[in-house]
Amino acid sequence: MRALAIVLLWLHVAGLGTATAAEVRDHAAEQVAARTWVIHGPLGDPSPANQGFMNNPAFVVTADGVVVIDPGSSVHAGRMVLRQIRKVTDKPVTHVLNTHVHGDHWLGNHAFHDVFPGAQFMAHPLMIEGARGGQAKRWLDLIDQLTGGFTRGTRPVIPTVPVVEDQSFTAGGVTFRILAPPKAHSGTDIMIHVVEEGVLFLGDNVMNGRLGGMGDGSFRGNIAACERAAAVPAKIFVPGHGRTAGKEIVTAYRDYLSILFETARAEYDKGKQDYEMKETIRAKLGRFVGWEGFDLNFGRHIGVAVLEIEAL
Ligand SMILES: [Zn+2]
Repeated sequence: MRALAIVLLWLHVAGLGTATAAEVRDHAAEQVAARTWVIHGPLGDPSPANQGFMNNPAFVVTADGVVVIDPGSSVHAGRMVLRQIRKVTDKPVTHVLNTHVHGDHWLGNHAFHDVFPGAQFMAHPLMIEGARGGQAKRWLDLIDQLTGGFTRGTRPVIPTVPVVEDQSFTAGGVTFRILAPPKAHSGTDIMIHVVEEGVLFLGDNVMNGRLGGMGDGSFRGNIAACERAAAVPAKIFVPGHGRTAGKEIVTAYRDYLSILFETARAEYDKGKQDYEMKETIRAKLGRFVGWEGFDLNFGRHIGVAVLEIEAL
């Protein structure tokens, strides 16, 4: 009996088989198609309250295994994602796809590499290059700082398999087609069309109900990415942040970007500075004012747009 108690105590201390205080709390995976699940993360920026977890990890269960997309911001988030996968299937993870270089989407690779070191970790070649060139460390430090150290212990597992525009691969009878719009949200973006499922993973080229940074992106490139996404014959569109829905979330986000950019261009042509055009642009974006992060990001977005207009 004492031996059993010691074993149980050891299991508890080692955190095996159970979520410890240092783990990300469970967020339920929602089935959005026959073989596809999405975990819709909280909408805010990484914080102690959300344990750094705020993106939309997803997984597709194929005949041979599981294909994971964007397993979160830390090893802790990745373990949480794996716990949700285990509620659906015992199959091994065969592939992990990362939509872009921003660390809230891919630092969770660590958890999957620990358990499935033979899985293929895939991303845009410029995502791989950027992560190796300093973005991995930058994002690791940023999320550590924003979460008060919650995500500490995470190791960047940078993808090694590049995927490019119009590339397809099949896994367990499911076709994954890659779209790689140049310089859109981050310059390292892929979108993933899961053909038989009628699902398109948009990465951060589309957000729904939340705004994030555009500092690594391009308004014109991101608008073009939205147009491409809207032309994909899919029924279910999974944004990088916010609720999964139909094509209307793609056109809504395109509208946000294009109204902001075109109004900024018209105001710029009248000789206005970015702070002088803010109210005019805000008045045209009324339907987006309630989005998470609007106040923080809207002014910054105008700054990015004006730089892009100046460079035209
Ligand atoms: Zn991003």
